Amino acid sequence: MLILLTNDDGIYAPGLAAMGRALRRFGDVSVVAPATEQSGVGHAITFLTPLTAKEIFDGDRSRGWAVDGSPADAVKLGIAEFCPRRPDLVVSGINSGLNAGINVLYSGTVAAAIEGAFFGITSIAVSLEWDEHADYDRAAEIAIDVIGGLLDRRPAPGSLFNLNIPTRALQGVPELRVVPMGVFRYGEAFERRVDPRGRAYYWATNDPPPPPSPVETDVAALAAGAVTLTPLEYDLTHRAGLDILAAGTWRIGPAGS
Ligand code: MN
Repeated sequence: MLILLTNDDGIYAPGLAAMGRALRRFGDVSVVAPATEQSGVGHAITFLTPLTAKEIFDGDRSRGWAVDGSPADAVKLGIAEFCPRRPDLVVSGINSGLNAGINVLYSGTVAAAIEGAFFGITSIAVSLEWDEHADYDRAAEIAIDVIGGLLDRRPAPGSLFNLNIPTRALQGVPELRVVPMGVFRYGEAFERRVDPRGRAYYWATNDPPPPPSPVETDVAALAAGAVTLTPLEYDLTHRAGLDILAAGTWRIGPAGS
């Protein structure tokens, strides 16, 4: 099996290294990751400027390819140019910080996994709650167990998954909950500060706790200390809206009217 490993924290991130060490149990690992941190860039791609990439070495051992672009760029270029053959699995992470709730849509980590799914390759994003002394190796063991369980279930090619690991789950026996993404808005507050030249600047403040929901979401399960697994899809079409919009006739005037 060939696994393409990427992330949004950059090729030197410790989470990427830990995930790579653990994934080598499953097969060959090709590392293609952004050259610099790209957290929060979502599904951005580079198309107005050329993309450069270079192989990074630790002594005489290749660490992988560093792409001077976004996480999605790294996956596209990785599959097209740097993987020795078409990968069987794309893994993005381990991200430093959870990617749950609407943050899934801002996440470069998840976007890289989505890009893998675009290619019809089963892909998974892996994120660990931010901690200054995060234990990425323990998180990678948990991720390996979940990825093994997913592969045993023989997901359809192009299946897409989002895995989140809270700090609390690194101790003892973690509990896995399969939950939907929470879609409430949060993180709407900014702290206004003044810089040394008297100009205002704004800093996003901490997120308030999620509102209660009848169905447990990833955000709530993570707050309870559980590992969360969410199957995702990138087709944003609102199915019911198709019928609503297709009903009746549309009148659009001809040119020159
Ligand atoms: Mn990140």
